[in-house]
Amino acid sequence: MALFLAFAGAPDPIAEWNHFEKSVRDQTIRKEEAKKKFPLIFQSLKDLCRNYSFGQESPWLFPVQGYGVKDMGAGGFQPDIRYASSIKGYDFYDGNRHGGHPAYDIFIRDQNQDSMDDRTHRPVMILAPVDLLILSIESNWNTDSETRGGRYIWALDPLHDRIFYFAHLNEIRTNAGAFCRTGSIIATVGRTGKNAQPSRSPTHLHFMVLNIKESVLIPFDYRKQF
Ligand SMILES: [Zn+2]
Repeated sequence: MALFLAFAGAPDPIAEWNHFEKSVRDQTIRKEEAKKKFPLIFQSLKDLCRNYSFGQESPWLFPVQGYGVKDMGAGGFQPDIRYASSIKGYDFYDGNRHGGHPAYDIFIRDQNQDSMDDRTHRPVMILAPVDLLILSIESNWNTDSETRGGRYIWALDPLHDRIFYFAHLNEIRTNAGAFCRTGSIIATVGRTGKNAQPSRSPTHLHFMVLNIKESVLIPFDYRKQF
């Protein structure tokens, strides 16, 4: 019984990350506190990954099925610009107010903006580009929401200390805590998010990868990985 209680009382790193990530997004945690907490949570998530056999994937699998590097917005990776925010440059700890565009947008053929591929009339699958542990998902989004990412996924590559972020999703097909092998379907491309839903925005996946160094999360220009 004592053993059971001890086990039940152990912190769940996935639950901790979920609470943390949403607190940072919604700015309900102070930046300094978040910076102190992040390395501890990150280490506990990496420890959790020892339960799975992560493989190295090189080159990466392209995350949007049926599309390729040519569909990545030219000049999309600009972490230091002023973009959709009063803040210049990307800082993870700015949450939903963050500046910069530290990602590429991967555009699909969707003239009528129904989140279906115009050629196949089917949803476009998002695949895990490397082996990933799914850290958190946001599936509650509606058109009144201020959340810029819309429906999104955060995931971890523990072999390279990287976290992956997939935003503006339509349907999420995985869960927090799931281990996803390269090529597993994790979601479908959508138009969710404050700036992704208006018709001025062509349908795309916003795909960001951050390199982790202690409490600093550095946007990674991953184009050459494909
Ligand atoms: Zn974007």
